[in-house]
Amino acid sequence: MNKTITIELSTNKKPKPKASELGFGKYYTDHMFIMDYDAATGWYNPRVVPYQPISLDPAAKVFHYGQTIFEGLKAYLTDDGKIRLFRPEQNMARLNRSNARLSIPAVDEELAIEALKQLILTDSDWIPSDAETSLYVRPFVIATEAQLGVNASTQYMFMIIMSPVGSYYAEGIHPVKIHVESHYVRAVRGGVGNAKTAGNYAASLKAQEEAYAHGASQVLWLDGVHRKYIEEVGSMNVFFNIDGTVVTPALNGSILDGITRDSIIRLLKHMNVPVEERQLSIDEVVTAHQEGRLVEAFGTGTAAVISPIGELTWEGTRYVINGGNTGELSQKLYDTLTGIQRGTVEDSFGWSVVVEPSEHLISR
Ligand SMILES: *Cc1c(COP(=O)(O)O)cnc(C)c1O
Repeated sequence: MNKTITIELSTNKKPKPKASELGFGKYYTDHMFIMDYDAATGWYNPRVVPYQPISLDPAAKVFHYGQTIFEGLKAYLTDDGKIRLFRPEQNMARLNRSNARLSIPAVDEELAIEALKQLILTDSDWIPSDAETSLYVRPFVIATEAQLGVNASTQYMFMIIMSPVGSYYAEGIHPVKIHVESHYVRAVRGGVGNAKTAGNYAASLKAQEEAYAHGASQVLWLDGVHRKYIEEVGSMNVFFNIDGTVVTPALNGSILDGITRDSIIRLLKHMNVPVEERQLSIDEVVTAHQEGRLVEAFGTGTAAVISPIGELTWEGTRYVINGGNTGELSQKLYDTLTGIQRGTVEDSFGWSVVVEPSEHLISR
């Protein structure tokens, strides 16, 4: 295919919100990236264009059968004036694993990363510079063929949109309350739980609402077969520090393989903290809590990076973890990982990627 990305600049620049108004996913930058696919041509016409609504036939398959996937990552404007991404090649590799599961044709990962860089450079004035803020990047693919048969679409759009986001933690990281879900399940092995696809999130809303009603902010999912093994929390992977050994559920096909999860496991190994990826039952966690061996628990994901868990509720019983406070290890992991992302902590892993201007693959 022709890999030349064309850039059409917007003539209508939007006003930028103040850092205090940012929140999450409320504002979008001046440009977006689009590339089309049809079965005869493959992927074609990669382009940066002004941010705008798209027009789709009401019969487009994405609306009816949910053939769609997405990714999420962040760009940071760091103290040295550079723009940094965190392991973007991992996001594009996972995008293609999700694509494969949903019978969506693979995207050229090198081109997708170049598209991401060009879009970020085009809208670099949108990257907020205040502490803890960043530019959230959302690549996604939708099936656009107008045809109601249940089969894989012959047409798609790959798009990237970007949103400046505020600090996840206004006053430093603080622990959340989690509801252990015993009625609904998120995914089963062999299903699509390990793909970042829309239906997983639509299916989680009901349980999320009930968790809110119980005063919790997120759901901890148990496995769909035995209803006893821990899977993940909302849109985060989950870790438990039991007596100094950090345990996280193994990638079993029904949980999402988080890039933050992988980074935390590598960091722990680097710090010589014992870490185990294995099956972990809710009973084991409750027993560890009762015996005073559950030192801390935390979720991991791009949005919050580390989200300490201060309290679990399961079948009507509350289990307060670490006195409801942020654990020492959670804080250390948060400081180290956000430091690497923002270029203030030495990155011995080669995770941080500086976005540099290049004329590579570009035509204006
Ligand atoms: C995106 C996501 C995660 C976290 O993945 P990261 O790559 O760390 O952001 C975890 N669980 C689910 C269900 C997700 O969608």
